[in-house]
Amino acid sequence: MDSVEQVERLIHDFWASAPSNSLQLETGEKAWDKPQVAIARGDDPLFEHIKDLIGPFHWTPEEAYALAFPEHPAPARDLRVISYLLPQTQATRAEQRLEQKMPAERWARSRFHGEEFNCELRLHLAEALSSAGYPSVAPERLPGFAYQQSERFGLASNWSERHAAFIAGQGTFSLSDAMITRWGKAVRFGSVVSPINLPVTERAYGDNFQAWCLWYAKGTCGACAKRCPADAISTSDGHDKQACFSYIRETTAPYATKTYGTGATPCGLCQVKIPCESQVPEGLG
Ligand code: SF4
Ligand code: SF4
Repeated sequence: MDSVEQVERLIHDFWASAPSNSLQLETGEKAWDKPQVAIARGDDPLFEHIKDLIGPFHWTPEEAYALAFPEHPAPARDLRVISYLLPQTQATRAEQRLEQKMPAERWARSRFHGEEFNCELRLHLAEALSSAGYPSVAPERLPGFAYQQSERFGLASNWSERHAAFIAGQGTFSLSDAMITRWGKAVRFGSVVSPINLPVTERAYGDNFQAWCLWYAKGTCGACAKRCPADAISTSDGHDKQACFSYIRETTAPYATKTYGTGATPCGLCQVKIPCESQVPEGLG
C-alpha cells in the first residue's frame, strides 16, 4: 500500500461495491460518479495559512492526527492528506438543472444518502490504511469535529474538506464559496490523514484560491448568483453565508423532508446550469 494507484483502488472498490453508495431509488442508481483522488503534504505551509485565516480552533493535519493517536503523534512532514471528491451523476445534475427554488429529488437524496456513504467511505479508507500498517484518521469523523464562529468567515468547522481539497490540488474556491474542480462544482469531498509516503499531486493553480472562477479570473459570468433563489451570492460581496444558511434551514430542508422523506440540508441550486457545473470553465484550467 505505497502507491497512489493502490489508494485509488481502495476508494474505487468501495465506491463500486458498497450498498450505501445509492440514491435509494427503485432504479438502483449510485449516489455518486467515480471518485477522484489527490494528495497533499501534511507540512504544506498552506495548512498553517488557512489556520491563521479561519481561526486557532482549525486543525492542521498534524493536530488532527495527534487527537486520533495521542500516544503516537507524527510530525507534519511524515503525513499526507488524501483528499477525494465524489461527483454528482449526470442524471442528478440534469434533474437539478430543471429546478429554480427547491432541490430536485436526486439532489436531496445524494445530500442525505450520499453523504451517509461518504461518511462510511472516510472510515473505510482510514481503517483499510490502518490495517495495512499506516494508522490513519478521517478528521471529519473525530468526536471533536465541530463548528465554531470564525472572526473572518462566520460559522466554520475545525476541519475543512474543501480547504484540504484546495491544498491537495483538487480545485479552487469560487464566487459562491463552493469549489470548482476538474469534475466541476457539483461534487462533495472527504479526506483522510495518514503517515504514508505518497507522492503529492501538483497544484495546477499554485496558491491562487480563486483561479478557476470566471468572476475572479476575468470579471465575467456571475451565473451562480442568478441561480440562487435567496440572493445569497453577489458579485460585489460574494457568498452571504447567513442568507444561504437561513434559506436552507427554513425552506429547502423542510421541503426535502416533507416531499422526499430525506433529512440533511440540501439546496445546491447554484451548483448546476452554470459554466463550472461539471468542468473548469474554458480557458482557466
Ligand atoms: S458560475 Fe461563474 S461566477 Fe459562479 S462560480 Fe462558476 S465560474 Fe464563478
Ligand atoms: S446553496 Fe442555495 S441558498 Fe445557498 S447560495 Fe447556493 S443556491 Fe443560494
